[in-house]
Amino acid sequence: MGMPKLFLIPSLFFLALASASPCKVTRRGLSGDLIIRGTVLTSEAALANATILVHTPSGKIAYVGDGCDSGLRAVDASVIECGHSIISPGFINTHEHIEFSTVNPLSDIGERVDHRHDWRVGARGHTLRAAPVNGSEINATAWGELRHVFSGTTSIIGGQMVPGLARNLDFISGLEDGLTAPAAYWDVFPLDDALGILRNGDCNYGSTPIDRETAGRFNRYIAHVGEGVDAEAANEFACLSNMTYDTLPATSGGGRSTDIVAQNTALIHALGLSTADFDKVAARGAKIVWSPRSNVFLYGKTLNVSYLLEAGITVALGTDWLPSGSATLNREAVCGASVMRESYGVALAPKTLWEMMTINAAKVAGFEDKLGSLEVGKMADVVIFNGEGEKELADYDESDAFAQAVFGNEKDIELVMRGGRILLASDGIKDLAAETCETLSFDGTNKIVCVSNELGSTFEEFEAFLEGVYPARLPTIPPQEPTCEPTR
Ligand SMILES: [Zn+2]
Repeated sequence: MGMPKLFLIPSLFFLALASASPCKVTRRGLSGDLIIRGTVLTSEAALANATILVHTPSGKIAYVGDGCDSGLRAVDASVIECGHSIISPGFINTHEHIEFSTVNPLSDIGERVDHRHDWRVGARGHTLRAAPVNGSEINATAWGELRHVFSGTTSIIGGQMVPGLARNLDFISGLEDGLTAPAAYWDVFPLDDALGILRNGDCNYGSTPIDRETAGRFNRYIAHVGEGVDAEAANEFACLSNMTYDTLPATSGGGRSTDIVAQNTALIHALGLSTADFDKVAARGAKIVWSPRSNVFLYGKTLNVSYLLEAGITVALGTDWLPSGSATLNREAVCGASVMRESYGVALAPKTLWEMMTINAAKVAGFEDKLGSLEVGKMADVVIFNGEGEKELADYDESDAFAQAVFGNEKDIELVMRGGRILLASDGIKDLAAETCETLSFDGTNKIVCVSNELGSTFEEFEAFLEGVYPARLPTIPPQEPTCEPTR
């Protein structure tokens, strides 16, 4: 095993901060196309003084570069100048249970468990942690999509959907803006173990587990596997990765192991997997969805993702759900960075975390040709941060453009755009926003929110209707945030 492909950032690295650069509209064109200038994050580097062109009505990116091409100058586009602000692809959240978005995070009773069934059904003498949804699941889902959109996430895999707002990559009807591709398939109980079945040494779970042929038919099959730290969690992977592990069918159906580990598979959590298991995941080209905060809060620890990255596994971040996870993808990144340092002594590069929120996430969802990076022909899903992000992570170089996006806060967001459509903008961009947009305060900063067409009411009306539930507009540290402090 060689050195992980990660770099340590010197902790004593003081630099003058580039001053915040709020975006402003410097030209209003007639074509509907939009030129945005700033620091553009790409897989190669952060490109300062770069330009992207968003084409209308396709909602796609038509140009990325230094802006000097004559063809670009001829375009009668509107122009947004963003100075040193950071232009990133919109974030993609690869794991949510989005309908749990009106509940408060679970209180910390100090109990860390060994398997998800311990808290789900109160197995083995553990405390059952119920998280009932307040009100309708449709309203809660819309509410959750709004919370994620406001923090720069433009696509979600979350098991539920509403039309508009964030793209829902696990629903064909939720893809939005002319995006077409097979939707991902999302599975909470691949072994049909919803009743809380725990096995060790055989695969006698429910009667209708997933099988190799069925899983293989999906463009992406994304499943909870091994959510726990015990032998029973490891057993789930054995039953899903080895045809000969258990060949004896159960009389009631199911009972035999299968092997679904392939390029189209992504495993959510995978906390119970051994390094040998991850070697198999790597060899097969399967992917991993990482939800560190929820792992730490429920089980006291999370994966050593540096081992996975070194093995070449595509790892993407997901917030899991509000009760035990992060309220935003940015807070998931903060937790991921912090727990990797604390548990494994590894400083994840901000760019590595950014990839987990963008292109890796697109690969997990099976949309890497259309989402996840700012490239010509891809959808113009964009989030812009003004670089004033909370500097709570002292180990990171504050001038790192990737860090400013990854650890950015809601109040520092200048623009959120889905397929070229403005969903949220700072005050300086309001001239380009539709008349139906609302002005709202985000942690003391005024923003323009443009969701009423898709929401079917103004945001303010919807917020008033849901008064008292967990907020969708969040301060730097979301209220009652579950701990990210590992205990084992
Ligand atoms: Zn989950």
